[in-house]
Amino acid sequence: MLSKTSLLSRLINYTKSWQISTKLTIMYATVIALLLGFTCVATVVGMYFVIYHQAEMEMSFSIKNAMEKRNDPEFMAQADEEKLKDIPDEILLPGVVLRVEDSKGNIIYDNDRHFVPVEDLRKNIVENKSLWSSDKYQLVRLKHFMIYYHEIPVEYRGEKYTLCFSRVITAERLMFAQIQVGVLVAAIIGILLVVAIVYLGIKRAFSPIRSFIRIAKSIEVSDLSARMEVPPSHDEMTELATTFNRMLDRLEEGFRQQCRFVSDASHELRTPVTVIKGYADMLSRWGKEDEETLQEGISAIKSESEDMQELIEKLLFLARADQNRQIVNKTPLNLADVVNDVYKKMQVTATEHVVRLMRNEEGTIFGDKVIMKQFLRIFLENAIKYTPAGGTISIDSHAMPGFMCVEIADTGIGIAKEDSEKVFQRFYRVDSSRTKAAGQPGGTGLGLSIARWIADNHDIGISLESELGKGTKFILMIPLMEKP
Ligand code: ADP
Repeated sequence: MLSKTSLLSRLINYTKSWQISTKLTIMYATVIALLLGFTCVATVVGMYFVIYHQAEMEMSFSIKNAMEKRNDPEFMAQADEEKLKDIPDEILLPGVVLRVEDSKGNIIYDNDRHFVPVEDLRKNIVENKSLWSSDKYQLVRLKHFMIYYHEIPVEYRGEKYTLCFSRVITAERLMFAQIQVGVLVAAIIGILLVVAIVYLGIKRAFSPIRSFIRIAKSIEVSDLSARMEVPPSHDEMTELATTFNRMLDRLEEGFRQQCRFVSDASHELRTPVTVIKGYADMLSRWGKEDEETLQEGISAIKSESEDMQELIEKLLFLARADQNRQIVNKTPLNLADVVNDVYKKMQVTATEHVVRLMRNEEGTIFGDKVIMKQFLRIFLENAIKYTPAGGTISIDSHAMPGFMCVEIADTGIGIAKEDSEKVFQRFYRVDSSRTKAAGQPGGTGLGLSIARWIADNHDIGISLESELGKGTKFILMIPLMEKP
């Protein structure tokens, strides 16, 4: 046999698989049933209390009056004279019946001869009283009536008598029973109606969730185009649908970018690999005999591998940045030291250009030292790359309120206005024939997108001024570190 707890836990587990709409319906129905049940019981019990209490009050009032009059000699003398025929109305309230029985059991006074005989009343006294009936009087149950009955023995002029008081509590017992059944039926119908309305309402309210599930099931990595229908209401479901659709927009865009990135990266890597393979083939055919071919092949392979390495480094940087795995270790830095360091190295490598440091003012910024150097190097290397030999590259770093302003200017080929935003996109390169005309190898198109990521990470503002054929100036606004 199942123990109580295992039965309960099985029942709880079973309810877990129910739909939310079923759970909510049952919850609402239970609450409504409890409320209705409580209201019905309270109404019926309250009704009984009122009716029984009214009867009790009238009975008590009449008994009290009668007993007071019994001790009033003047009244008793008068009553005697009238042979007890007429007990005035003010003693007994209407509905209260008084019989006077002598010691032999004869009724010598009766104010309502049509009322149930005393013997019948005595025979039908109820042993177990109901909650709402009085303890002071006995309760008589007849087919159609509930009656309060009370006997008081008295002595008068040496004779013993019994005063028998009665008062009908409910004249229509059956009607009361019918009312109770009616209330119960009405309550059950009410509960069923509530269950139906609540169930339909909840089903309707939850219909967007079902469409949500259907759409979510249909979404595949290969097809992120499905969208939820936004319900016309302005409730949580509308918000859910809009949020879900926005999430899909972002996922679709992210996924598209990812695909483009992978295909662009593969494309970029294909060129150096093809070149390396070509030189390797050439070397295997003629390189062994011809010293010149051997040297040319080796240096070409070396240079292509270096380019490829640089490209891979950049790709890895962006991949880490995309996945928030790029470590950025920010510390307070003196920008002048960073600029000086980058400038010195640039002077050594840029043998065909004039590199000038105009101003290099002190200023503490908060950033990652290695990444900040890489940031400045991207602009300087571009300036060298896109400026013909003999051109000038100048660095001007000066303090402004709240910022350090670093201007990197060149006298190179310049960037057209329509390209000035696009140059920050991944793999974007302005017309490669122009680049080649500058006598420099084409870049990867990744430098400025890395610079943009670093800038966003350090709250740096980047703007550029350029004129085709005259030169370009990148203006970097690096926030100064707030003094503690
Ligand atoms: P790349 O590796 O091609 O230099 P970047 O993202 O650094 O990639 O630059 C994107 C494009 O912006 C370059 O291909 C070039 O056309 C243009 N560009 C960047 N810096 C300069 C500059 N100082 N002068 C002229 N063109 C520039």
